[in-house]
Amino acid sequence: HLSAKSHTTFMEVDLEQMAENLNRHRALLAKDCRTMAMVKANSYGSGSVEVAAMLERQKVDYLAVAYTDEGVTLRNGGIKTPIVVLNADPASYDAMVEANLEPEIYSLSSLLSFISTTRRYGLSSYPVHIKLDTGMHRLGFLENEIGELHKIISNQSYIKVASIFSHLAAADDPAQDEFTEGQIAKFRTMASELPAALWHICNSAGIERFPQAHFDMVRLGIGLYKDAISLKTRIVQIKNIAKDETIGYGRWGVAHKGMRLAILPIGYADGLNRRLGRGVGKVNVNGALCPIVGNVCMDTVMVDVSKVDCIEGDEAVIFGNSPAVEQVAAWLDTISYEVLTSVSSRIKRVYI
Ligand code: PLP
Repeated sequence: HLSAKSHTTFMEVDLEQMAENLNRHRALLAKDCRTMAMVKANSYGSGSVEVAAMLERQKVDYLAVAYTDEGVTLRNGGIKTPIVVLNADPASYDAMVEANLEPEIYSLSSLLSFISTTRRYGLSSYPVHIKLDTGMHRLGFLENEIGELHKIISNQSYIKVASIFSHLAAADDPAQDEFTEGQIAKFRTMASELPAALWHICNSAGIERFPQAHFDMVRLGIGLYKDAISLKTRIVQIKNIAKDETIGYGRWGVAHKGMRLAILPIGYADGLNRRLGRGVGKVNVNGALCPIVGNVCMDTVMVDVSKVDCIEGDEAVIFGNSPAVEQVAAWLDTISYEVLTSVSSRIKRVYI
């Protein structure tokens, strides 16, 4: 691994914390309940092969990615664990079977298309994962398609149903538990009409809040990454700005009195959202949360460090312990998932 010292701006990924998060969630499951770890979008921004390799060492049962390319990257990196491709585009089915990846089947047309791929490759009993729409209304079979789905599956030998699953739309919101319980009930009914296979519906919030719905497997995403990912940089310049001077593009930053300004080498092209500028977001310098001044630039941001002791070279934390990624998400009126997955590929990931 590269040393953190060689990068001014880097994402610090704590694989031990992730393993601990995994095992804390696994401790909530019945002994024979399996775990699928969500490593789509570069493991929520934290890196693909490195995180998957840790999960493989921890013996997770399945990995899940969104796109075939993400699964191919994992296979090229030596990952052997079964991999489900959730948003499996039929145009990528050849690449999928060549990399031994298992598709989510979400419609009759995706089913027929995948059967024809496996037939062309001379495969039999290829594992697929049937996605049911129980109320999320994203990908998945609706109730009125279950009969036809069952008929097609029963009359062929090219694929076999390894698992049947659905996704909860609001498992984290107690105010909507009635809806979630309805989704779980609908899932039971729909899945019962299909051949026996592993059942799963719980995401991270579901694992914690709906133990009665763990079924045969759970899908752990954000819970794996919590408190394990930090984005850090260093002050490259400090300067004193006189009262009434303006700072940055459009002169949106104003020194209402004399200001000590720190310049950080991270900008919106690195995933530091431009909406954090103009005083919305703060950066941690030596324990103090310092406001971003003016507009975030493409590669640079300016921070008011008037109230903190600091020198050039000191570390500045964009998110981590404080501010937590959830805090940055709140400043942006979004969710931590978006903040994490927005850190651009030019930021080095450093594993500790
Ligand atoms: N299952 C599916 C189908 C998903 O798309 C996701 C992530 O969005 C998850 C599970 C994991 O969700 P979470 O990160 O909230 O645990």
